[in-house]
Amino acid sequence: MTQTAPMNDVTNLPRPTARESDPTTLAAEITERLTYRIGKDAAAATEHDWLTAATLVVRDRIVDQWMHSTRETYAKQGKRVYYLSAEFLIGRLLRDAVTNLGLMENLQTALSDLGVDYDILAELEPDAALGNGGLGRLAACFMESMASVDVPAYGYGIRYVHGLFRQDVRDGWQVEFPETWLQHGNPWEFPRRESSYEIGFGGHVNYDDNDTCIWTPRERYMAEAYDTPIVGWQAKRVNTLRLWKAEPLDPIRLEAFNAGDHIGALQDSNKAEALSRVLYPADETLAGQELRLRQEYFFCSASLQDILRRHLQQYDSLSNLADKVAIQLNDTHPAVSVAELMRLMMDVHGMAFDDAWDLTKRTIAYTNHTLLPEALESWAVPLFERMLPRHMQIIFQINARVLKEVRVTNAFSDEQIAAMSLIDENGERRVRMGNLAFAGAHSINGVSGLHTDLMKKTVFADYHKLYPLRINNKTNGITPRRWLAQANPDLYALCREVAGDDILSDLDQLKALDTVAEDAAFQERFRAIKRANKGKLADLVKDRIGLTVHPDAMFDIQIKRIHEYKRQLLNIIETVALYDQMRSHPERNWAPRVKFFAGKAAPSYHNAKLIIKLANDVARAINRDPAVRDLLRVVFLPNYNVSLAEVMVPGADLSEQISTAGMEASGTGNMKFALNGALTIGTLDGANVEMKENVGDDNIIIFGMTAAEVEAARRDGHNPSAIIDGSPELKQALNAIESGVFSPGDEHRYRDLIGGLRTSDWFMVAADFEAYASAQRHVDGLWKTPATWDAMAIRNTARMGYFSSDRTIRQYAREIWGVLD
Ligand SMILES: *Cc1c(COP(=O)(O)O)cnc(C)c1O
Repeated sequence: MTQTAPMNDVTNLPRPTARESDPTTLAAEITERLTYRIGKDAAAATEHDWLTAATLVVRDRIVDQWMHSTRETYAKQGKRVYYLSAEFLIGRLLRDAVTNLGLMENLQTALSDLGVDYDILAELEPDAALGNGGLGRLAACFMESMASVDVPAYGYGIRYVHGLFRQDVRDGWQVEFPETWLQHGNPWEFPRRESSYEIGFGGHVNYDDNDTCIWTPRERYMAEAYDTPIVGWQAKRVNTLRLWKAEPLDPIRLEAFNAGDHIGALQDSNKAEALSRVLYPADETLAGQELRLRQEYFFCSASLQDILRRHLQQYDSLSNLADKVAIQLNDTHPAVSVAELMRLMMDVHGMAFDDAWDLTKRTIAYTNHTLLPEALESWAVPLFERMLPRHMQIIFQINARVLKEVRVTNAFSDEQIAAMSLIDENGERRVRMGNLAFAGAHSINGVSGLHTDLMKKTVFADYHKLYPLRINNKTNGITPRRWLAQANPDLYALCREVAGDDILSDLDQLKALDTVAEDAAFQERFRAIKRANKGKLADLVKDRIGLTVHPDAMFDIQIKRIHEYKRQLLNIIETVALYDQMRSHPERNWAPRVKFFAGKAAPSYHNAKLIIKLANDVARAINRDPAVRDLLRVVFLPNYNVSLAEVMVPGADLSEQISTAGMEASGTGNMKFALNGALTIGTLDGANVEMKENVGDDNIIIFGMTAAEVEAARRDGHNPSAIIDGSPELKQALNAIESGVFSPGDEHRYRDLIGGLRTSDWFMVAADFEAYASAQRHVDGLWKTPATWDAMAIRNTARMGYFSSDRTIRQYAREIWGVLD
């Protein structure tokens, strides 16, 4: 194609005409791709071959619109948003793309004409698990929403060869295996060899005659771009997810090889490969290893070089950078970007420090995701200096500037100034990445109202006093295309009947369901859909772990990373107490329940892994006890990931969101469940607070200590052993677990875990037990009046419009990035 019109002539940009997508055309194209791209005859093709062929046909329908979106942004000289994230927990892409393109029916027909089942193919697609949990999933929902609400955006991250480990459960213990999503190739990605950048580490810093700094790195690698198109709802816009792969400068050191050093000859290649090889599996804890810092710098440097190249190609000058570029840092993992952007502007583009600093701050914004001290990133100064000597200088320079601004106010004590420094001087000196991100950004946002509030009062209290306009809130959201339309097509269809065809672009329309919440006929249809989804989940349980569960029981589900603050332990202890009560009082009219757990523990997190073992030990004991056969079952489903969530969420009656108040920044699992008509039992933590405001106090079950009460108990000291002594049910459950009732042959297995509750109970498990147990009995009561339950469930679906990630993205776009009107 020849480019005749000048690129900035908007009138010469006709939208691409849609390709024919009737079933006959699709079938013919699939056969064509199979033959000429994959080189297989239909008779010899494997299911993976068919999946690849179908994916390529869908992909072609994205590409025209993709190029159009890119050209349009260029022509309009629009501001571009760059979302930098070490994690993108995308899951599968085929159904997402097919739904957003509106191709589902025709593709299913085309494949079935070819004798292939779409659903079987869709299940073969591996999950792109390039993230740990909520933070990575948020980045994925945001990418989809940015395309859907027409924000010109690029996601930047790392193309990990191994995403989050695959979890198997052996004898009740978590066992980790490498995840290999790329083993059959990845038909969604386009390698862009022409977009490669050099990335340096180590070495030394000199100055030339003009006092310009020359950094000579000791190690050098290449970052190569791999692009995946992200299709918005109804394909309005297609954005790019650009992931970087590390390559050696030279594939092999031939000199060494010829001299007989065959291993040494590949040294650079191996070191490069390590950079983008594995995702760090820790959630909410600082990895602290050198390779992690290398990964962070690697993808930030490549991304920023790419951003500046694109900008300069269009505008010739960096002076308007902040008008045309918005960079969002997803947590501190990309915080080294502050120093790297300064370096590129000063050392490569010859800008003075003051100008570079001003531009950096106006361009960069930072999202904070955690208040947990163990998760706040910091790097030992000697390590940082050895690896990034020039950046270390720049950070000291920034620090001097910031601390000067602090001192002239005369408003801060020495202690406060020490806390605001980018360098932690207590003991071994460390670079504080949170402070670096704060200092280098014009906007710092939290991810729920409560979290933003706590941020102002705790980690960034002093910075907030210095720069009172910087902190703002952007409550998280989820994309309704994936978490309603795709995961729960029957509920989506029912919602459309009542709320119209625009719910996916305007989720607030779901409000219309309020009018039918108490309508018996509607309730019956709503319940039938839930029942069918529970049937599918029961089939999955049978299939994966061989256990029979009955879809008439209440499906009570807690799925998320395993962490003490998320309090799976509270849920398990209450399950044990319930089990005791059911056996002691069989005459009572118990609500039958299936307790579901799923989630991965960081491989190095001892207590989290022990909690998985406890869930499995308790499950085994309860599931084999005929006394509670029809009343209680416990299920631990291995290998929680996005695709498993897509089956479990629509099949839930009760959603467990029971973190210690003040510790969950937002949560997004909570939103997925409520949207799909589950009731929430939860604490006043993260976005639960706003969910309560939206669905109404009567439609959510809230229990337990508030964040302020938790804080006070920790500050003033509390007495968990007295609490335990005062609660016979809790005491009995703890004694049973502690004394080895669930771990015969290893009686001491849970001694320390339970002992910790008696002595410190940092996460308020004992302290919240009574409130939790009585909230659960309240839930039992609701279950016995289905009309009440269903009305509540319908109101949850109806009132979740606020939690669409489209709303979140529009707020970022207007209030932080300055795009959209
Ligand atoms: C939504 C989601 C999460 C986040 O769940 P929370 O309950 O908010 O912690 C984690 N992992 C996966 C696979 C998800 O889909």
